[in-house]
Amino acid sequence: MWSKSNKNPLIIISGPSGVGKSTIVKEILSFYGPERMGTTITYTTRSPRGTEKHGKEYYFVSKEEFISLKEKNVLAEWTYIYNHYYGTAIEQMNSLWKEGKVIIKDFDLKGTMAIKALYPQTLRIFISPPSVEELIQRVRKRSENPVKDMEVRIRQAKHEMGESASFDYSLENNDLSTTIEKLKKIIEEYLKKI
Ligand code: ADP
Ligand code: 5GP
Repeated sequence: MWSKSNKNPLIIISGPSGVGKSTIVKEILSFYGPERMGTTITYTTRSPRGTEKHGKEYYFVSKEEFISLKEKNVLAEWTYIYNHYYGTAIEQMNSLWKEGKVIIKDFDLKGTMAIKALYPQTLRIFISPPSVEELIQRVRKRSENPVKDMEVRIRQAKHEMGESASFDYSLENNDLSTTIEKLKKIIEEYLKKI
């Protein structure tokens, strides 16, 4: 499909909380397989939700641990969103690239901008919901947010949707399998060009 590239391919999936980013990243990872594509595990100060495990979906760390990672320049970028810190380790990205893999990862807007500035080859895809009402349903379905947090996430979602034009592509995640098929085509085009 593509040869090992020294271009360090990186695909960012961004969009409001609950729109389906993690679901989409998982599907794309399983389609390409671990030999060809990988993701990084974010350090965050938020608590695990549902079945999330330390070292699988996230590294769950204290605020002090996070600040120490930041000060030691372990992170390629970091953000503070929904009252918590999130950041990605440079080393994790470099080791995936060293193995010749494509990286796919979700970032918030701030992270997307920081990563694009560091790695101009980055492909940025914005995922939008069919409607705000549907987004609320999906966040509720995930059912871990007290109403106050939900309001913050919806306010943030509206702000993020206003920024979608700055991305390379914007996809509405209505029917999941349609979204995945469209995304695969976009990724194939990107990997041919990079
Ligand atoms: P995010 O990572 O963007 O916060 P998730 O991937 O956790 O969002 O998805 C939030 C919820 O929405 C999950 O319950 C997921 O199964 C569901 N979901 C994802 N995509 C779709 C879709 N296209 N249609 C309906 N539900 C979806
Ligand atoms: P959640 O708490 O819903 O899992 O994630 C909250 C937000 O943080 C989402 O927009 C998600 O894309 C973003 N996020 C997750 N990991 C990182 C990261 O390493 N860096 C940045 N900048 N954002 C991240």
